[in-house]
Amino acid sequence: MQDYIDFARKNGFKLLDIGKCQFCGAKTKRGIHECLEIFNLEFYSIDFSISENHIYRFLIVDSHALQHPEIHGRWNNHFHLSRLHLIFKHNIKWTYKLSPKLSDYLNIYKLHKRDEYLTPPEVLKRGNITTTDIKEKLTNETECKDLIERWSLEVHNVWSNHHEVAENIAQGFLNKNKKHL
Ligand SMILES: [Zn+2]
Repeated sequence: MQDYIDFARKNGFKLLDIGKCQFCGAKTKRGIHECLEIFNLEFYSIDFSISENHIYRFLIVDSHALQHPEIHGRWNNHFHLSRLHLIFKHNIKWTYKLSPKLSDYLNIYKLHKRDEYLTPPEVLKRGNITTTDIKEKLTNETECKDLIERWSLEVHNVWSNHHEVAENIAQGFLNKNKKHL
């Protein structure tokens, strides 16, 4: 858990431990720490052992990471935005097997794009849906899944300045992995 505090410090952000989440605006009482707790613990009330539910896990991880890039490494943005792009724009049925293949592709991509930096949307302008909204819906699985999908579509949309990059990565990834898809 120390990692995210270190990342924030390196990115010049002081983490606030009171009130709403300073990054996504979630209606928390203990700021980003509570936002992360909801993300890490509470979303597990969805049964992720069922393969049809895996997609919601990917959408949750990508949406949360892209709403909180200050607490991650900068290349995570490439990964999460490209994955959402592949899911929404290329209708790829994402599976656990594909994630390491996308990481492998990005490792090669990075070598040629060392200076490429995806500037995140301003804090609190990263979509209206947040962890606390999802938490409120956890008792109704259908509504919850629907909201997770809307959450990730919104987040994908607010990163539209970098959709061209995501599209390039998606194309490269698809070319390289044709036989697995
Ligand atoms: Zn948050």
